[in-house]
Amino acid sequence: MKDENLPNESITFLGAGGARFMMYNQFLATGGFWLNLDGTQILVDPGPGSIVQSTKRKLKAENLSAIILSHRHLDHSADVNIMVEAMTQGGFNRHGKLFVPADALETDPVVFPYVRKLVDSVEIMEEGKSYSIGDISFTTPVRHIHPVETYGLVFSTAEHTFSHITDTRYFDGLAKYYRGELLLINVVFLERHFPADFNYGLPMDHLSIPDVEHIIRELNPRVVILTHFGMSVWRAKPWLVAERLSQQTGVRVLASQDGMKFDLAKLDNVQVGEEVN
Ligand SMILES: [Zn+2]
Repeated sequence: MKDENLPNESITFLGAGGARFMMYNQFLATGGFWLNLDGTQILVDPGPGSIVQSTKRKLKAENLSAIILSHRHLDHSADVNIMVEAMTQGGFNRHGKLFVPADALETDPVVFPYVRKLVDSVEIMEEGKSYSIGDISFTTPVRHIHPVETYGLVFSTAEHTFSHITDTRYFDGLAKYYRGELLLINVVFLERHFPADFNYGLPMDHLSIPDVEHIIRELNPRVVILTHFGMSVWRAKPWLVAERLSQQTGVRVLASQDGMKFDLAKLDNVQVGEEVN
């Protein structure tokens, strides 16, 4: 549904934060991001606070056509049940699609069974598949290396192609799946960690700033937006980190902020090194 609050094609950040300590402290919000793609509205990764952040920004869940969960971790999924209820008005306006990896519905499901009945369809995401939401399509090109099943997303609209690299450990060949004009990338760590590093008994399966630099050089997109910051990136001031990456790579790199709205039309005339806000 068209929304006069939103540009024709935009991404609104319902939080620039991610990972557990950021989620517990809410120095940055953790509500995921909201796409408006020529009137088709899609919510990706409704972490804790998604309902608060979206209503505060006058984004109406009942206008959503779909909710996509990249994976079942709490910082991506905690508000999925309430957001489906809000999208469907508690089932009184049953509509929309919910996209999830299979393990979000299996043992310890993060989507309650009654909520699954409120949408038109629940679609299971798998590696190398393509999905549609009205006139919008997206693919899940590769399974990431993460403790649970998860996929990044590549969206195609009539005018733009953009990619979202969600949580993963870096692996060779990762970048090549995510070509597009815009790269939206989750970066939890400032410094690189190795598979042998453990954090409270859990593997460090997240990207770091050096990984992101590597990916940007390989992909050379028009614009990169960093998001899903853990504490170490937040302490280093994400906008300074982004500026440094811009200088190092020659690609315009932005740091997301809570509530930031990015108009995809800006991609059409970006020259390397040009300011985009
Ligand atoms: Zn995760």
